[in-house]
Amino acid sequence: MKLRKVTAASAAVLALALSATACGGDDGNDSDSGASGGSKIKIGIKYDQPGLGLKEPDGSFSGFDVDVATYVAKQLGYDANQIEWVETKSADRENALARGDVKFIAATYSINDERKAKVDFAGPYLLAHQDLLVKSDSDITKATDLNGKKLCSVTGSTSAQNVKNDIAPKAQLKELSGYSECVAALQSGAVDALTTDDSILAGFAAQDKYKGQFKLAGLKLSNENYGVGVKKGDTATVNKINDALEKMVSDGAWQKAVDANFGPADYKNEPAPKIGVIVK
Ligand code: GLU
Repeated sequence: MKLRKVTAASAAVLALALSATACGGDDGNDSDSGASGGSKIKIGIKYDQPGLGLKEPDGSFSGFDVDVATYVAKQLGYDANQIEWVETKSADRENALARGDVKFIAATYSINDERKAKVDFAGPYLLAHQDLLVKSDSDITKATDLNGKKLCSVTGSTSAQNVKNDIAPKAQLKELSGYSECVAALQSGAVDALTTDDSILAGFAAQDKYKGQFKLAGLKLSNENYGVGVKKGDTATVNKINDALEKMVSDGAWQKAVDANFGPADYKNEPAPKIGVIVK
C-alpha cells in the first residue's frame, strides 16, 4: 500500500517536471521568447554576397548584414547561438516575411514604396548606390555605354527594376537569382556588365579568386537605403529594431562592423544614416 502511494506521488512530480520542460523549452514556436531560454530567432540574410551576407565554406556566416542582424538580435534578447540564419534571395524577401519564415531580414534590402506596401522597415542602417561592375579591360564607363550590351542583375532587386525604368532600358537585361551567378557570367564573358549596389560589387571585386579581374564604374546611379524588413504591421518589432540600430551607431559597433567588413574591399561607405530618414 505504502509503496503504491509513493509511486503515485513520484508520477505526479514527474508529470509536473515534464510539463515545466515543455513550457520552458523550444516548443517549435520560434523567435518569440529570446533570453527566456532555449528558443531561436530566424533571421533572413543573403548567403552569396561577400562583405554583406556570406555563408563561408566552414558553415559560418560573415558580413555587415550578419553583424547588424547579430547586434539587433542581441538587443531583442537572443544570443548569437540562438540565431538560425535563413537564406532570403532578392525575389523571396517579401514572401518570407509575409509567411513568417523569419522574424526579420537584413539582406541589402532597400526601402522603397512598392515594398513598403507589403512589408515594414526599420532603419535605414546603410546608404549604398547602384553601380556597374565590368572586366578590368572593359570600355564601359557610363550607363549609355550599356545600349545593346548584355547586362546581368537579379530578379526582384531594385537594381533590375532601375535598369528597365531608366538607367539602361536599351541594354539586354539578363536576370538571375543571385549576384554570385551574375559574377560568374561576367567572368565567363556571358554578360558585359553586372549592376547592383556598389557595396555588393566592391565585395565581389575584392575576393581573392577575382582579384584584378574586375573594376567598378563608380557611377552612383541610385540611392539604396538599406532597411531591416519586418512583417507588415509588426510595429513593436520595428520600434525595437530602430532602438537597436540607434544604439549600434552610438556605441561604435556600427563603425566597427563597417571597418571589419568593408575595409578589405576598400569600399568607401556613406556615413551612418539617421533612423527614419530616407535619401531619395
Ligand atoms: N539593394 C537592392 C535591393 O534591395 C539590390 C540588392 C539586392 O538585390 O539585395 O533590391
